[in-house]
Amino acid sequence: MVRYVYDFHEGGRDLADLLGGKGANLAEMTRLSLPVPPGFIVTTEACRAFLTTGAEPEGMSREVSQHLTALEESAGRRLGQPDDPLLLSVRSGARFSMPGMMETVLDIGLNDDSVLGLAKASGNERFAWDSYRRLVQMFGTTVMGVDSALFEQAMTFLKETRDVPDDVHLDANDLAQLVETYKNVIHLETGEYFPQSPAEQLRRAILAVFESWNGERARLYRRREHIPDDLGTAVTVQRMVYGNLGPDSGSGVAFTRDPATGRAGLYGDYLSNAQGEDVVAGIRNTVPLAELERLDTRSYRELRAHLRTLESHYRDLCDIEFTIERGRLWMLQTRVGKRTAEASFAIAAELVDEELITPAESLARVSGDGLARLMFPRFDASATGEALAHGLPASPGAAVGAVVFDSAEAVRRAAAGEKVVLVRQETTPDDLPGMVAAQAVLTSRGGKTSHAAVVARGMGKVCVCGAEELTVDIEVRRFTTRDGTVVEEGTVISVDGSAGAVYPGAAPLVDSEVMRYLETGEQGERAAGVVDAVAGALRQADGIRRLEVRANADTPEDAARARRFGAQGIGLCRTEHMFLGERRKLVEEMILATTDAARDRALDALLPLQRQDFISILEAMNGLPVTIRLLDPPLHEFLPDRTELAVRIAATEARGDTPDPHDTELLDAVSRMHEENPMLGLRGVRLGLVVPGLVAMQVRAIAEAVVERTRAGGSPEAEIMVPLVGAVEELRIERDEVERVLAVVSEESGIPVSCPVGTMIELPRAALTAGRIAEEAEFFSFGTNDLTQTTWGFSRDDVEAAFFSAYLDKGVFAASPFETLDREGVGRLVGLAVAEGRATRPDLKIGVCGEHGGDPESVHFFHTAGLDYVSCSPFGVPVARLEAGRAALSETEESDSR
Ligand code: ADP
Ligand code: MG
Ligand code: MG
Repeated sequence: MVRYVYDFHEGGRDLADLLGGKGANLAEMTRLSLPVPPGFIVTTEACRAFLTTGAEPEGMSREVSQHLTALEESAGRRLGQPDDPLLLSVRSGARFSMPGMMETVLDIGLNDDSVLGLAKASGNERFAWDSYRRLVQMFGTTVMGVDSALFEQAMTFLKETRDVPDDVHLDANDLAQLVETYKNVIHLETGEYFPQSPAEQLRRAILAVFESWNGERARLYRRREHIPDDLGTAVTVQRMVYGNLGPDSGSGVAFTRDPATGRAGLYGDYLSNAQGEDVVAGIRNTVPLAELERLDTRSYRELRAHLRTLESHYRDLCDIEFTIERGRLWMLQTRVGKRTAEASFAIAAELVDEELITPAESLARVSGDGLARLMFPRFDASATGEALAHGLPASPGAAVGAVVFDSAEAVRRAAAGEKVVLVRQETTPDDLPGMVAAQAVLTSRGGKTSHAAVVARGMGKVCVCGAEELTVDIEVRRFTTRDGTVVEEGTVISVDGSAGAVYPGAAPLVDSEVMRYLETGEQGERAAGVVDAVAGALRQADGIRRLEVRANADTPEDAARARRFGAQGIGLCRTEHMFLGERRKLVEEMILATTDAARDRALDALLPLQRQDFISILEAMNGLPVTIRLLDPPLHEFLPDRTELAVRIAATEARGDTPDPHDTELLDAVSRMHEENPMLGLRGVRLGLVVPGLVAMQVRAIAEAVVERTRAGGSPEAEIMVPLVGAVEELRIERDEVERVLAVVSEESGIPVSCPVGTMIELPRAALTAGRIAEEAEFFSFGTNDLTQTTWGFSRDDVEAAFFSAYLDKGVFAASPFETLDREGVGRLVGLAVAEGRATRPDLKIGVCGEHGGDPESVHFFHTAGLDYVSCSPFGVPVARLEAGRAALSETEESDSR
């Protein structure tokens, strides 16, 4: 038979799916014999049944009554008993904590009679009426749907008439009067009376929790976070304990260690004579926990012992809620606590030192995203002062600039050399130029998937979004903070995209100690804790990861940095940057050449320059593989802009002069080569097949660089990669050419040069025919940017700013497919290509060189897909190393638990 209700004694944290996080952890604490007020949990299963049928499942209310009776017996009091009522709290709690779920209702069981009994039994009339007014207010807002502002107004009005600073100064009569006012508010607003029957209060509160699962905010949140809609929430019903019984009572929150730095030692806030959320609501000033030690030494010591018990039991930082009732301590909630990136590394390392977790487990406690945040410079916390506002940390980093309110102004000032921060309510595609020009973007609305957030992350630009406490007035070009501070256009502010905070003025920046360590290998002193912890985590990851990590680098400087960061080679060395600058002239000549001789002259001039590029990179990466990609972009990218040329020629003609013949020639070429969709045009391997001499020149440059490095005693390991292949025939033709040139250079130099030849897999057709392509390829490298574009049929530049935030909002995808690999679509092509490629050639080396190679979630996918390496930007290398280790770890965990 299905059960719908569990006593705290019956559950545990392994039942979180059924009992919700809060309920399961209360049961766990009960099992540990911590002082938890008794109670029971109505399961998520009951909620699911209620939501499908619209009625309580059969047997649920009987089970609730039975558990209630047991609770009453153990307390020696009945729910709502007139002379000494048992009171209850009704708390929601799903598997994942979610905004928008029903707020807890405290003090259920009070009515016009039992409030008098409570006053007598407790000997504290004020307390009884305070509890009753809390119940009417909470029940009125959360169960009956009355606007909470109406209750707050009544409270404020009463405080003003009595001329008292806060609620503690209202006496029993005041509070009794407030109860009457509240009840009237409810009647006026709903046409219903506040229910006097305790049983009805309990029943309605439980059902209201169920119903809140489908509240609008909760649904929206689940869609964005991709939490299934059919999990349901559990309901915890628990005996009340009273923190509002006088100065020897109170409530508080605590962490087993500092969630900001990870430093060991209790951390938290306490508020005496307070109940429930008072401590975090900011209605009165709280005191730090150290103060509790003075106020109530016994409870403090007991609390400290319980926190130790919890931390060693959960083997992690715990965050808890507690209440002291007349000197007696009660534990009301615990969970594994949230923490900053710095704290996550520090705590993981400390827990290893304390032998609470194994070094391998510590890897599960840290993340690549956290490491990435620690690699940015940050503001010196001792010098930032009070924050102007807080919002969501949408894109990490720290930036300083003058406030501007529109895109045009941002562009104008940036062009004049000023650093600016673009401030908007929300951004739209029209703001794109301003976002590009700004150091940071700040919005007052929108979540982490808003336009501002998505686009800023895509550009690697600092962004704080949804700073709702700011009123942004574009018209008068100013924003106003919560406390009324007015910030005009041109004022300098500092934006911390890692923490989601905004500060006045130019806050001083401090370099990242973690970055310094990664760059130099020196651990420094100031942040030794976190640097040691990061170093340890990377060592751990390197020890167990199966994926190799390479970097995408086109210059010797980037190659050297990547190597310091731990790269095991270069997975993508683009050659197009080597055709820019002064060399553009030579490329132009090659394109315009009408005779073989003219073209050869241009190519001959390019050859030594290319060779030198490769020599430097192979030297920086001595002994490690360097995958060099043959020229990929369409050639007209190296020619001047068509409109500019046309205008120049027209202007000259208008003056009656003859246009420069070179310009005319160029315009002809540009017009001839014009493409409607260059992304799908003459590029990649197609260039090599139709532009005579180009591949031969590039391959000769590579081969001669290898010869040169070999002669110098180095160990060059060049690999030649052909882009944008769609058919094996393309690769075969190009490869023949490559091998012909390698043979010629070997012959000429007397040094045998052999480079593996492979291809990028970046077109669906390449993935679909990977079995054939592998006949000609010694390695594959997934170009996941292009593969994503061509699989979805959209171009990143056109769509990201235009409609991605709408798609994310509508739940079409959970994350931008350019940030996190789309497993369902692109991922299937990757899986297919790996399987069929290896079926043809079992020792086929397979990697990825798209930006996804540095994205934590995608790295896990590439690990599972069986790739040999990921390649990402030099700065992404440490993150990828860490995540590759974590991926290997979760794999062993999965097989252990099988
Ligand atoms: P949330 O999920 O928002 O933290 P909680 O269910 O934890 O909501 O409850 C809100 C507040 O009420 C918390 O401060 C909690 O400690 C307090 N509270 C909950 N149950 C009880 C109880 N039985 N006795 C006293 N206070 C309680
Ligand atoms: Mg809570
Ligand atoms: Mg590509």
